[in-house]
Amino acid sequence: MCGIVAYIGHREACPIILKGLKRLEYRGYDSAGIALLNGDLKVYKKKGKVSDLENFIGDQATHAHVGMGHTRWATHGEPNDSNAHPHYSTSKRIAIIHNGIIENYAALKTVLQGRGYEFLSDTDSEVFINLIEDIHKNNNCSLEEAVRLALHEVVGAYAIVVLSEDDPGQLIAARKGSPLVIGVGENEFFLASDATPIIEYTNEVIYVNDYEIAVIKDGKLDIQTKEAVRTTPYIQKLELKLDAIEKGGYEHFMLKEIFEQPRSIMDSMRGRLIADQNHLMMGGIREYANKFVAADRILIVACGTSWHAGLVAEYLFEEFARIPVEVEYASEFRYRNPVIRESDIVIAISQSGETADTLAAIELAKSKGATIFGVCNVVGSSIARASDAGAYTHAGPEIGVASTKAFTAQVTVLTLMALMVAEKRGTMENSRLRQLMVEMENIPAKVEQALKLDAKIQHIADVFKDVPNFLYLGRGYNFPVALEGALKLKEISYIHAEGYPAAEMKHGPIALIDENMPVVVIATKDSSYEKIVSNIQEVKARKGRIIAIVTEGDDVIPDMAEFVIEVPAADEALVPLISVIPLQLLSYHIAVMRGCNVDQPRNLAKSVTVE
Ligand code: GLU
Repeated sequence: MCGIVAYIGHREACPIILKGLKRLEYRGYDSAGIALLNGDLKVYKKKGKVSDLENFIGDQATHAHVGMGHTRWATHGEPNDSNAHPHYSTSKRIAIIHNGIIENYAALKTVLQGRGYEFLSDTDSEVFINLIEDIHKNNNCSLEEAVRLALHEVVGAYAIVVLSEDDPGQLIAARKGSPLVIGVGENEFFLASDATPIIEYTNEVIYVNDYEIAVIKDGKLDIQTKEAVRTTPYIQKLELKLDAIEKGGYEHFMLKEIFEQPRSIMDSMRGRLIADQNHLMMGGIREYANKFVAADRILIVACGTSWHAGLVAEYLFEEFARIPVEVEYASEFRYRNPVIRESDIVIAISQSGETADTLAAIELAKSKGATIFGVCNVVGSSIARASDAGAYTHAGPEIGVASTKAFTAQVTVLTLMALMVAEKRGTMENSRLRQLMVEMENIPAKVEQALKLDAKIQHIADVFKDVPNFLYLGRGYNFPVALEGALKLKEISYIHAEGYPAAEMKHGPIALIDENMPVVVIATKDSSYEKIVSNIQEVKARKGRIIAIVTEGDDVIPDMAEFVIEVPAADEALVPLISVIPLQLLSYHIAVMRGCNVDQPRNLAKSVTVE
């Protein structure tokens, strides 16, 4: 993970880099550091947030027009000052910032130590910069050439930027597996892990590809492959707007993003669904319509919240399109020699489009000839580019580490996909298809209504904020929602929570229930309503404290539950888009009341670009 930023141009580098690091802090916040080049190559770094680094630097920063910064999510070595990036080489004449993992760092370190290189940190990144220095010295070559040769030696993932005291007007960057964007301004360049630090200066960007090295020197950009073949950079126009990455009056990004959902769900459907014109169209599906029609299996690979969206999609595709679906944790899938056939369609779901395990899983599936369909939020991301076709979720930037609007946008897109594939395969009654299209258009208004429950949920949060455990139960389409609700709570409030299929509770978790155990039951009116009412009785018989999410007008469950949250009625296949809203709000308010850092929960980072 981690965020990297660099600048070279005519402006003061330090403020641009610090501001950029704050924008990237969602990617990691164990430590932060900055290197400024003005004659000397000066490094300032500190454990903690970018604001800690800022306080540490005070007004002491060197004036410089070239510099780079890093906000870390530690993989090798604990979060402390010395493991913070940038890292100098042993001579202190060059320095690196690195996002990713160098897997063969230990072997390289041993060799370099044998040659007299000194290491001040436990990181794999410091090995990288000393390797570059070693090659630079021994081959008597340019720094650019040394970086290029070093890329042949390292195994793993990286986005790096290298600065050298000996080449003050030069910035070298490279990537493999970790994202890197170059912003092209007027006689100035910006480099960053995503476009958010760049957007206020220029909307012209270049997405660096794997195994490419970018050298910016004397105001010119040159990109070559690792094999020294020059490539023509493709400049794209960014559509991102600055207000999309600011809090806009909300206390936290997470709350802003929860409340943005009526709009973000609408944006996910824009141009794809117009019910009264019978218009249901997704470019990627149309292009691969024959594959979807012929498919005898869909594999979904994802991690975390996206995996939960994948579980909802399993229900949708199986019910609507009658295609068997398997939902896989990307990290398990790739390491267990899975059976992948050329006829398989693999749907990869990732908000950032950079999730390392998901990316690796699709590379594996691709090598076996499967068709890859990406569902990502970040335009131009690695997964989007590695896919044969796909659909962007268009939720807008999600900055809160706990995913909310990205989840509902994923479920929206996957629902439209399943409907469209069903239409192509002729597996659904036309009347039901039309009815669901109309219902989909009504979802944003229903989400808006569910958001009005905020005050009530805040009250419930206050009652339960100090408990050590929570159980979440759901059936059918609401089972993945139970998992998602539990994950939200764990992530940001550090309360242990488990999501379970309600019927499965009897096979173990029911033993946990006593008068202290809050049990959130998602019990909206659907085909398993009677069954879940029985499950509520079972919890109640064991004195569990029931918080029920029910359909408006339910007159059965309110008599059984301690707290009832009524959400608008919807077709059961679409209910996850609504029933998840109170769970997001519940976890948010509990976390705030517990004094947790909601947008940057401990140990987490937004896009998991390490395996
Ligand atoms: N592996 C490096 C470290 O632990 C970089 C991690 C990151 O991407 O933040 O410092």
